[in-house]
Amino acid sequence: MWVEGCLSAAGTVPAVALLVQKFGGTSVADPERIREVADHVARCRRRGDDVVLVVSAMGKETDELLRLAGEVSDIRPGREMDMLITAGERKAIALVSMALAAAGVESESYTGSQAGFLTDTNHTNAKILEVRAERIRDAVDAGRVPVVAGSQGVSTERDVTFLGRGGSDTTAVALAHELRADACELYTDVSGVFTTDPRVVESARKMHRISFDEMLEMTAAGCPKPAMRSVEYAHRQRVPLHVRSAFTWEVGTWVTEEDPDMEHAVIRAVVPDLSEAKVTVGGVPDRPGIAANLFRRLADADINVDMIVQNASEGGITDISFTVPHSELDTALEICEAKRAEIGAATVTADPRIAKISVVGAGMKSNPGVAATMFETLAEHGVNIEMISTSAIRISCVVAESEADRAVQVLHDVYDLANTDF
Ligand code: ADP
Ligand code: ASP
Ligand code: MG
Repeated sequence: MWVEGCLSAAGTVPAVALLVQKFGGTSVADPERIREVADHVARCRRRGDDVVLVVSAMGKETDELLRLAGEVSDIRPGREMDMLITAGERKAIALVSMALAAAGVESESYTGSQAGFLTDTNHTNAKILEVRAERIRDAVDAGRVPVVAGSQGVSTERDVTFLGRGGSDTTAVALAHELRADACELYTDVSGVFTTDPRVVESARKMHRISFDEMLEMTAAGCPKPAMRSVEYAHRQRVPLHVRSAFTWEVGTWVTEEDPDMEHAVIRAVVPDLSEAKVTVGGVPDRPGIAANLFRRLADADINVDMIVQNASEGGITDISFTVPHSELDTALEICEAKRAEIGAATVTADPRIAKISVVGAGMKSNPGVAATMFETLAEHGVNIEMISTSAIRISCVVAESEADRAVQVLHDVYDLANTDF
């Protein structure tokens, strides 16, 4: 069903625009979806818009390729992994381009390398150094729709590189900036950015707008959409982002600079994150240099430590707990075990079954009591808080994983997010 055209209700896009449109895996999961995307692009072209597409691998193909690699070998050289993973997007761009031809739209597919994405040599997680988008610009000028493979490029060593999971959002933002596009539209399987994960809370509401600062805090707190790197990039380069549905095509959520007229709800979103585990180093002597020693070693191993809590010491002995991504837990534990004797700690334990629940909103800067309400609400529902951390516009609590959904639901209720219109 076509509810709205390509243009926004926010009025930030001119009548005829240059749009970068990115389609995620679910949006191009099968031939029917690909044809629907092509029909949508054809409608945009008829309205007079210029369109550049960025496409992810179909459905769960990236996961499937990663699984295959694991079945073949434990040795996964970065160069070969990137050659493998980028095949997913390569297949998708060719199919989308063919569907566009069938819909009467002239188009051409481009790999990341052909589209001018020059990256560093950091395989499986490469950074964009430069986008030489002349070829894409020429194709647009010639009236064609370029279809660019997301999340990939070519390194300074001339090898194919992958930008990491969720990297297609970053490809789209970088291209939108380079082409000075009027908007970067991220099409996905939900109709925008919601007050919480709509899969967890049925009454979650789509936001009309959100500021970059709040969106960044949400993604840092674990919201999967849009990918955090793409939001940082868009914020830095002032690329207007529009998160919207590839299923209903309705107007979605605009991520923009904060403006003075923006209505300030105190809390805008509740963000669950089940991707981290907790490590506790127990019985540590409470003296200078212990934390420095341990966390320097973890940093040197590229472990992404998120929350850290040190207990008040009793008799000169204390505990240090911190959270790390599940994927880095084994390495973090090995490092802590290895350091145990040196720092004089008694125990190293892990709890992988935790959830971090965050509330985010710029309004909390000028409204005291947000933390108190959060803690009271969790307490009233018997949810024990294991760790707490805050920023100027975010409060995060670690709770047991089994309590996560309930915690999200009651916090969504207490801040009345289902009934707020922003
Ligand atoms: P894509 O593959 O299209 O890039 P993702 O699958 O990475 O998109 O992310 C979209 C998913 O993010 C949605 O299906 C939704 O369930 C989930 N999600 C979690 N929290 C939110 C939120 N606050 N707003 C919107 N979507 C969210
Ligand atoms: N297909 C890749 C992934 O799933 C890149 C992307 O979709 O952004 O991570
Ligand atoms: Mg995705």
